[in-house]
Amino acid sequence: MNAKPQEGVPSLLIRGADAVLSGRPGAAARAGSLDIRVQGGRILEVAPMLRALPAERVLDARGCVVAPGWVNTHHHLFQNLLKAVPSGINQPLAQWLASVPYPRLARFTPDLVRVAARLGMAELLLSGATTCADHHYLYHGGGTKDSGDVLFDVAQEFGMRFVLCRGGAIEAAGSHPGFSRTALAPESQAEMLMDIERLCRSYHEAGEDAMRRVVLAPTTPTYSLPASLLSELAAHARSLGVRLHSHLSESMGYVSWCREHHDCLPVEFVARHDWLGQDVWFAHLVHLQEEEIRLLAQSGTGIAHCPVSNARLGSGIAPVPQLAAAGVPISLGVDGVASNESGSMLAEAHMAWLVHRANQGAQATTVEDIVHWGTRGGAQVLGLGAVGLIEPGMCADLVVYDLDHPRFWGFHDPASAPVTAGEPTRVRYSVVQGRVVVDDGRIPGLDLRSLRAQAAAGVRALLAD
Ligand SMILES: [Zn+2]
Repeated sequence: MNAKPQEGVPSLLIRGADAVLSGRPGAAARAGSLDIRVQGGRILEVAPMLRALPAERVLDARGCVVAPGWVNTHHHLFQNLLKAVPSGINQPLAQWLASVPYPRLARFTPDLVRVAARLGMAELLLSGATTCADHHYLYHGGGTKDSGDVLFDVAQEFGMRFVLCRGGAIEAAGSHPGFSRTALAPESQAEMLMDIERLCRSYHEAGEDAMRRVVLAPTTPTYSLPASLLSELAAHARSLGVRLHSHLSESMGYVSWCREHHDCLPVEFVARHDWLGQDVWFAHLVHLQEEEIRLLAQSGTGIAHCPVSNARLGSGIAPVPQLAAAGVPISLGVDGVASNESGSMLAEAHMAWLVHRANQGAQATTVEDIVHWGTRGGAQVLGLGAVGLIEPGMCADLVVYDLDHPRFWGFHDPASAPVTAGEPTRVRYSVVQGRVVVDDGRIPGLDLRSLRAQAAAGVRALLAD
């Protein structure tokens, strides 16, 4: 497959949808019942009753809702072979890290990463995601650097827009909770930077319609490297023209660690080391003080909101309505499925819609907010300015949700269905950069039986504690 599928992509006409959601916030979210013409990977026209042109493929969207594809801004694809590990199922973050992923990191060969990534991307595509940012931290001193290449390869196979957030820890990172159980030696700074530069040369596209991006993303800024190196790494990323990403304030442990070691709050800590800005986004941000929300908003730093993982690990509920009101860029991420058990963006969106209402009242979130955060919001956080809206000139990344199921019969507002009803909402078609990547509910060319057998073999290889 071609990573830049501008040429040779058939033109499409998506016709007859009951409703189109634009990806914009508020009232502008409701585009109406419109047809969509796609040419050369871009949306050409959005208008009522468009007529098919010769050689144009018509996708029947009658009885369907069309929305921009979900942009998943935080994942750990390798964890697709670590779902529901019993030793971690009732554990909070630190104990879960020490009992589920860390002891098994060293066992992930590039082949196992490939199986896990194919599983994860299949689930993402079938839940309406068209872009994935993967926070990948399976790197160690002197070890293979191939797994990042494997992820780009799998993304190309599935036709998914892909951002590799190149993680890892570097030497002198002994305070990382549970790191002693990884059986991995940390990389040196030089080793990590050399590989990031190599990945940038091989894959990174700077454009607002990039199919492939690289991001500098040590696993946590608090634990994965000496504080004295944070500013240097940020400057290096900016000199390469790549973004910064990491975990932050997922549990109260981050807050107490920062208070104890640096006499400040986590967001204040990263602010001191040049880790705030429009080119930075953090996963989680569950535990925040008002002054931290102000710092995030003033700097334009984004969040990957992961409500299912936060609930599963008992971490808490990020104050996302308050972050949004303050002007912080909001996006959604499924996080690793070892702490979610589902890599579905639909499930994540459904949870994001519900959890803040349970906590703060029925006006805390709207369907339009959720679609915006999960689509255009994600594209903005990743710097993909041409992605996330169904409007002429934008990249043709969109999903046709099929509402032909008893669950949706009786809906007064079908446009809300993918968010308000959650799963199962079947994806009839999904399109990335004009290419049909889910066709009548199936991923073309994907042998699911074979993938299932590979997944079972992968689980066996990782079984023992
Ligand atoms: Zn994570």
